[in-house]
Amino acid sequence: MFGSHLSIAGDLSNALREAESLGLDTVQIFTKNQRQWAVKPLDKGAADAWVAEQARLGWLGRTVAHDSYLINLASPDNDLWEKSIALMREEIERCERLRIGRLVSHPGAHTGSGVEAGLLRIARAYKRLLRETRGCSVMICLEDTAGGGSTLGRTFEELATLRELIFQEAGSDAEDRIGFCLDTCHAFAAGYDIATEAGARAMLDEFDRVCGLERLAVVHLNDSKGALGSRIDRHEHIGEGGVGLDGFRGVVNHPAVAAVPKIMETPKGKTPKGTPLDTLNLRRLRRLMRDGGPASGSARRRTGASRGAATR
Ligand code: ZN
Ligand code: FE
Ligand code: FE
Repeated sequence: MFGSHLSIAGDLSNALREAESLGLDTVQIFTKNQRQWAVKPLDKGAADAWVAEQARLGWLGRTVAHDSYLINLASPDNDLWEKSIALMREEIERCERLRIGRLVSHPGAHTGSGVEAGLLRIARAYKRLLRETRGCSVMICLEDTAGGGSTLGRTFEELATLRELIFQEAGSDAEDRIGFCLDTCHAFAAGYDIATEAGARAMLDEFDRVCGLERLAVVHLNDSKGALGSRIDRHEHIGEGGVGLDGFRGVVNHPAVAAVPKIMETPKGKTPKGTPLDTLNLRRLRRLMRDGGPASGSARRRTGASRGAATR
């Protein structure tokens, strides 16, 4: 299930229509301007149209939203923390209104207070958020990060610890409301060597041991401009960065991610001939799936084995 992060400029539903025209299976959006604290309420007509369009496409339950870059639930600064909670509540409520099933969120940055204090701060924020949005069905997906500066969530252990802390604070009925998002660019920049097919599979197996692949609700498919372990979060086109095509082959053919929305957050635009760059990246990903599943890549490529065998 492949998708792309697309713009809602002009009209929310534009993102759905663009995704459809690109031949995608789903889409990720910001439900509002991601760089502004001020929030304009959702327009009723636009929201209704989004819901109807989503239903027409049969995409209920598979669309994704990404939270605002301004939100920092780990902040030791009380004003910023309160503002962040208020904006995150808005994010959750918008997803509910738009019937978007998954909300990807960067855990936050401790900005000097330390990892433990930062994680606890996030957990306390969710204690409130989950209570204040009780009954909402959107799953919050904690995303791994490249780990630049004081950002939390660089390691799978940190993500798993955070989820545990949230349950300690908010109670275990929060279990179904918190999952994970795994970003391949971030993982590579954080130091997970997924530049080979075996390395990518090993990374997913480690994710399974530490966080549980059954809780992986979104994958971000981005190559990395930054080197392995550089902690630089710069997305590159599929196969053109440090991860490379072999790494993506290992990810997209892993059985655990088959039914998970896999979103490209790669640079947008068009070739001089007018082909959307998303089309090129999508083509590369689909080709990797055709080429062969785990442990059979080169042999299958030569023999041209069927797609069915590769995508299981
Ligand atoms: Zn993100
Ligand atoms: Fe991402
Ligand atoms: Fe990123």
